[in-house]
Amino acid sequence: MEQLGKNHGGYHGETIEVHAVLRDLGIAAQQQGWMVETFGQQGGFDLIALHRAPVSISHPPSPLRFYLSSGIHGDEPAGPLAALRLLRENDWPPNAELWFCPCLNPMGFRLNRRENPDGKDLNRDYRHLATAEVRAHFAWLERQPRFDAYLCLHEDWEAHGFYLYEQNPDGRLALAETIIKAVQKVCPIDPSEVIEDRPAKDGIIRPNLDPNTRPQWAEAFYLIMNKSRLGCTLEAPSDFPLPVRVNALVTGVNAALKSFNPV
Ligand SMILES: [Zn+2]
Repeated sequence: MEQLGKNHGGYHGETIEVHAVLRDLGIAAQQQGWMVETFGQQGGFDLIALHRAPVSISHPPSPLRFYLSSGIHGDEPAGPLAALRLLRENDWPPNAELWFCPCLNPMGFRLNRRENPDGKDLNRDYRHLATAEVRAHFAWLERQPRFDAYLCLHEDWEAHGFYLYEQNPDGRLALAETIIKAVQKVCPIDPSEVIEDRPAKDGIIRPNLDPNTRPQWAEAFYLIMNKSRLGCTLEAPSDFPLPVRVNALVTGVNAALKSFNPV
């Protein structure tokens, strides 16, 4: 599979009609029995969070709690499209309880830019909460229980293939390897030894740093400090066709959730 060679200095690939995607997300969520909560506003858009109760909690006895998010960067359309496909396919482990924020920056998609309309990167604002969007999302997250794992869905226009960041300070389950093993069947994995200035191996970056030493926090830093001890940020390579990237994210999510629930 060849890279498209389209992205020079930024993302120049396909865009989405975010109104339509949000409408379809709402319809799919309601059809599949999710609760839809509006936790904030951005421009004329509702910021929504979805919640799905476990279908069966008899085996194993307690639900597994997963948090997913996508669409915090408005030039990364594969995330919300992956969210839509996951909702429509409705193929979740029966004992999974899920929370999903599928589009955290809808105005960003309207503008096809990474940041919010004020030029702020929302995924750097989870320490200082300078933006209304992140304050609203933070307040919603604070009302939720702790999660067994989180997955944040992203894209990278500079990547040569799929890669991910794993935060796993207790050395639990090998979530990263499970995801890479599944995704490599549908999308090239970035073989680079350095990605985003961090050492990488076989598409896996383990940042291994203390968020307290970082001046700005991504959503994932907030999550690891407050909500979960395990999680991954999945990065689809946006110089590949959009369907490949969506498939990579969907495959990665399914592999991660099912690894908690071996069938
Ligand atoms: Zn991103």
